[in-house]
Amino acid sequence: MSNKKRVLITGGAGFLGSHLTDRFIKEGFQVIVMDNLITGNPDNIGHLFGNDDFTFIEHDVTNFMHVAGDLDYILHFASPASPIDYLEMPIQTLKVGSLGTHKALGLAKAKGATFVLASTSEVYGDPLVHPQKEDYWGNVNPIGDRGVYDEAKRFAEAMTMAYHRYHGVETRIVRIFNTYGTRMRINDGRALPAFMSQALRGDDITVFGDGSQTRSFTYVDDLVEGIYRLAMSDYNEPVNIGNPQEVSILEFAKEIIELTGSSSKVTFQELPNDDPKVRKPDISRAREVLDWEPKYPREEGLQKTLAYFKKAVLG
Ligand code: UDP
Repeated sequence: MSNKKRVLITGGAGFLGSHLTDRFIKEGFQVIVMDNLITGNPDNIGHLFGNDDFTFIEHDVTNFMHVAGDLDYILHFASPASPIDYLEMPIQTLKVGSLGTHKALGLAKAKGATFVLASTSEVYGDPLVHPQKEDYWGNVNPIGDRGVYDEAKRFAEAMTMAYHRYHGVETRIVRIFNTYGTRMRINDGRALPAFMSQALRGDDITVFGDGSQTRSFTYVDDLVEGIYRLAMSDYNEPVNIGNPQEVSILEFAKEIIELTGSSSKVTFQELPNDDPKVRKPDISRAREVLDWEPKYPREEGLQKTLAYFKKAVLG
């Protein structure tokens, strides 16, 4: 029997989950990935099949979860996570954030494992405070199109804190801001995959609204570093992990046109309901508690991501 520490990563076949899986393997853990593959992709973890430290279980985490043996950590990353995904799968999104989080916390309690919740900047909704600090309670429309994701994650945070306070489970909550990098699905509808694909194909770039809304984009390696540090810390309150380098969506579209050397033109389409007007993390807490800050400015992260999109889009 190996004496390596064991981690369960739900959603481990997804974009972030698979990068975390790689990181934990690299750090000497045994990793069990659990995923029902509705938005995850086995190709993201294909290179790990045959590795003795890796196990894959195809399972929907909203149903009772069984994992044999000890677990030291559970990272709960299963969820549809792009606006078109949760518009198409509203019930699954609500279920994985609520029932799935409950099951994963129950397993953490039974195993004495540390639980890490993938939360989101969406808990701040369309924020009235800028930049967003962890003590801001947010501005969410509970019955809007995005509410299925926002409220599921808010419930998940509440459930996580309840398991911590009532059952004494060691818990961590990471509020993840917009992140990009390799293994994103090119057609997941998010701004970066959409713009990259459109620019590489020479199609029009679809900016929603007038493009004045802002986001702050984080390169995936920076995010993984922040999450790893949080998991290893003893900090129970939510922590924003994101790159505070803010940009308007129109400006971002132009950056991608320039990066790809594309002749694509920008077209403007209707702004989706409740689309946040601004978003930028205040990362003082991550700096203080985790000694973490992002290393990759957008220019560098986008450059690193371009080769992946070229291959994925153009073959
Ligand atoms: N967006 C856009 N065109 C697209 C996709 C997204 O203008 O083809 C905008 C979207 O309305 C939002 C921003 O880009 O204001 C970021 O959207 P994304 O879906 O990446 O994530 P969000 O931050 O909204 O969850």
